[in-house]
Formats: sequence, C-alpha cells, structure tokens
Amino acid sequence: MIAILNPACSLREKAQVVSLIEERGLRVHLDRTDGREWVGILGSNAVAIARELGALPGVEEVRNVKAPYALASRELHPKKSIVAVADVEIGGDRVCVMAGPCAVESEEQIFTIAEIVAQRGARILRGGAFKPRTSPYSFQGLGLEGLKLLAEAGKANGLPIVTEVVAPEDVETVAEYADMLQVGARNMQNFRLLQAAGEVGRPVLLKRGMVATLDELLLAAEYVLDAGTPDVCLCERGIRTFSQETRNTLDLAAIPLLQERSHLPVIADPSHGTGIRRLVGSLARAALAAGADGLIVEVHPDPKAALSDGEQSLTPDGFDAMMLELGRVAQAIGRRI
Ligand code: PEP
Ligand code: MN
Repeated sequence: MIAILNPACSLREKAQVVSLIEERGLRVHLDRTDGREWVGILGSNAVAIARELGALPGVEEVRNVKAPYALASRELHPKKSIVAVADVEIGGDRVCVMAGPCAVESEEQIFTIAEIVAQRGARILRGGAFKPRTSPYSFQGLGLEGLKLLAEAGKANGLPIVTEVVAPEDVETVAEYADMLQVGARNMQNFRLLQAAGEVGRPVLLKRGMVATLDELLLAAEYVLDAGTPDVCLCERGIRTFSQETRNTLDLAAIPLLQERSHLPVIADPSHGTGIRRLVGSLARAALAAGADGLIVEVHPDPKAALSDGEQSLTPDGFDAMMLELGRVAQAIGRRI
C-alpha cells in the first residue's frame, strides 16, 4: 500500500502517519515521486490500516499495491531506476556491456581479457572467483586470489567489476573487492544470501533461477531491496525448457515484461542463455532490441582452453564483431552502447 502525502503535510502530520504504520507492526519506505512524498507501507496486512491512514490530515490518497513485491514494483516506484556501479550508470539511454571470462583462471588470462574488452567498449569487467559448479569435481574458481586478480585487472583498465558471491559468509569479503555482487541462478532463492547481499550496500546483479517465474525473480529482488540496497539489476539468463537445442532458452519476452512490472534495470545474458558461442551475437542483438538495459557476456582469450564455459565464450574477435553490431542496433532504437 502507498499513502501519498499532500503537499502541505507538516512534519508533525508526517510523523503521525509513520507512527500509525509502525504501531501496527508494519514498515515504512519513504520515496518521492513527481514532487510528492510517497509512503510505502510494507508488511503482510497493510490494507488493514487503509481507512485509518486515509483519515489522517497529512494524507491525500491511499493506494493499494497489487504486486506482492512492493519495493520492486512500478506501483510504488513508477519511474525507471538507474543503478550506479562505481561511475557506470545502468538503466539510462546508454546500454551497459559487462564482459569477461566465466571464471578468473590466472593473472595472465584476466589481465589479457580485461584489456581487450575495455578497448572494445565493455564498461564492466565480469569474472567468477567463487564458482557455483554443478559437479564438485569441476574447477571451483580461484576464490580470494581470483577476486584480487579481478579487482586489479579492473583497476588497470578503468573498469568496475562484477563477480558472483555464493555464500552469505563470503558477502563482506567479496564486497570489499567487487563493485557489484552477482547472485547466480542457482542461488536466486537462497534467501539468507539475498539478505546478506542487500545489507552490505553494493549494487546487486540478480540472475533468474532456471525454473523461476518472473514473480519469483521479483520477490527475490524484493528480499535484496528490503534488506537495504536500492540498487538491483535483474538478469534474464535463460530458463530450462523442453528444448535440447541450446543449454537454456533465453526468455526474450521476460525483458519487456520485467520492465513493465518493475523499475529495476534488466540485463540479458546471451552466453548462459544459449550455451553456444556462435549464437551469442544474435541473441545479444535480439535482447538489446527487446529493450535490455545491458548485457553480460562471457569472453575468453582462448575459449578452447577455458576451465569453465568455453563453448559459450566469445573469442576477442567475436566480441569485437558483436560490439559493432550492437552499436548499430542501439542506434536503431535510440540508444547507445
Ligand atoms: C556465470 O555467470 O558464470 C553463472 C554461473 O551464471 P548463472 O548463475 O546464470 O548460471
Ligand atoms: Mn559461466
């Protein structure tokens, strides 16, 4: 529910509104829209106080929020949000490309690829240090060492970094080095992790679970927002379907649907969304045309030698070609890369 305060609402009247909400065990989220103060009322039975709130002198209107994810919804926050990752803004006219290897493998690998993607227009460097692998015998990432290498490679090339965090107890350490925390598909409903990621104050890239509905994704985002950070990007990275042709099925319709329901920027991941290198460029263009605010793409100096996700990683030349084509699509839809 939302209580919209009238423009003449005094501080005392506003305090009355807030205390009524809090007395009933509900929580307050203050926001400003079109010059008006909006008081979001968070909790499981907010409607019970609608009438009382509407009768208070400072309140102009009380509105119901239909979405179960009030903070992520357009109802409470009609204007699209811009998420700042260091000095890079996501959600405006300029589309943000995040690129780098699936995993940080060595100093040489990450420095080589960071320089290449920076020169070719990526604005955020990606790379996994703590990897959530399906098999316990697969490469699990370099851990803290990988995190440090990624941060150094980012700095050397003027790029902020995004990297995955897989456990609540690692959040503080990862946040020390990373500009943006990635919560991966396998952890989309790890609620303690979502809360810890939301509490630490870094922007969060939240990936859609492989079998998650859009409402479930938005409710997962709500956990992060409710924990404190206003900076969340949603990521469509493909879902499990009957189709065996690609690793996952990139759900392009999710991009405009998420933007309809939520003010949060939407990123698309055509690498995990297809699993096949030669399809990544096509799906990246399609996602951009569908309205994505950014793309996250895996690139490796030598994909055949990659320790994870080599089949879906672009070569440096492939990345170059993709960026050129994305530039054309961006121009056609009134955006830029
Ligand atoms: C990744 O980005 O390398 C990754 C593991 O992604 P997802 O969580 O989407 O599978
Ligand atoms: Mn990967």
